[in-house]
Amino acid sequence: MPVLSEQSLARLNTCHPGLIAVCRELIKQYDFAVLCGHRSKDEQNKAFQRGSSRLIYPQSPHNRMPSHAVDLAPYPVDWRNLARFREMWHRFDALARLMRERGEIESEFEWGGEWNTLKDFPHIEIKETVRM
Ligand SMILES: [Zn+2]
Repeated sequence: MPVLSEQSLARLNTCHPGLIAVCRELIKQYDFAVLCGHRSKDEQNKAFQRGSSRLIYPQSPHNRMPSHAVDLAPYPVDWRNLARFREMWHRFDALARLMRERGEIESEFEWGGEWNTLKDFPHIEIKETVRM
């Protein structure tokens, strides 16, 4: 069974409990790395300058505390294989649905890979409408 690295776990632990709960289940069936949880003002503005985020602080859901977004990548990471990112999201989504039915979480999520404009394949965030 895959396990999260210490670094992945430390990043995940900066996230909203709903994201943490689904990721802790997902790792039991699918190996992935947590690339990013919460982003500080400095980190967000650097991400913006690099072009890896379209938003300046504090507009990103990554800037909330706890973070309302997490960036995940199938492990080992291969940025050319987008089908794996899609599979990871489908597994995440199916688990999240099951956990909502069981009353374990309330959050609903959206995947950056489904955005129409700039797709963000590692990015999963809590839907605004159900934020607590
Ligand atoms: Zn993100």
